[in-house]
Amino acid sequence: MSYIFDPAPQPSVAIQGSEDLYPVHRIYCVGRNYAAHAREMGRDPDREPPFFFMKPADAVVADGSDIPYAKATENLHYEMELVVAIASPCEDIGPDAAKEHIFGYAAGIDLTRRDLQLAAREKGRPWDTGKGFDRSAPCGAIRPAGQVEDPGHGAIWLKVNGEVRQSADIADMIWSVPEIVAELSRLYRLMPGDLIYTGTPAGVGPLKPGDRVEGAVEGIGGIHIGIV
Ligand code: MN
Repeated sequence: MSYIFDPAPQPSVAIQGSEDLYPVHRIYCVGRNYAAHAREMGRDPDREPPFFFMKPADAVVADGSDIPYAKATENLHYEMELVVAIASPCEDIGPDAAKEHIFGYAAGIDLTRRDLQLAAREKGRPWDTGKGFDRSAPCGAIRPAGQVEDPGHGAIWLKVNGEVRQSADIADMIWSVPEIVAELSRLYRLMPGDLIYTGTPAGVGPLKPGDRVEGAVEGIGGIHIGIV
């Protein structure tokens, strides 16, 4: 037997200091994981804990890419995020065990069709069209965990055309990285190749064609994209 057509190419992310690639299995995302961002989205972080949504694996985009302005939106937003890359299968683990299942960390951008996301939110519908669209998950090269001194602290920032739009610290996350991995592992069997976008700090905003976007997480790495 053979496939009736060629399978889609395996999505992947570069690894810092290596020629090898990290093959992407799934992309999980955390919503409202920074209190100031939850408030700017009109929500009370003290009353509503963070939550999860997903993007398709082939939404991943390499660092340095030019990305066409997304279709079907008039309000494409950037969201700068720390990304966690899973190393090994895990299920129902506690936060203390999370570290041994983490391959590394990267800087990523959760591109969002804000108009579609908010319309869905208002109607109590799924977020997929607002979040899980083509080329919605730019991800910088992964820094292996052994080379990251402190994945719990570090500046996270994003600039559009050289102007700072987001500036915070990953220590401000409501759910820490170990808590996120533990929580997700209660809902899914996490697998090597799973990326987790851990949420964005305050300062999200719109992009337009011609914008140059750069961001970084201190001690981990950066990401650059152009909107065309
Ligand atoms: Mn996000």
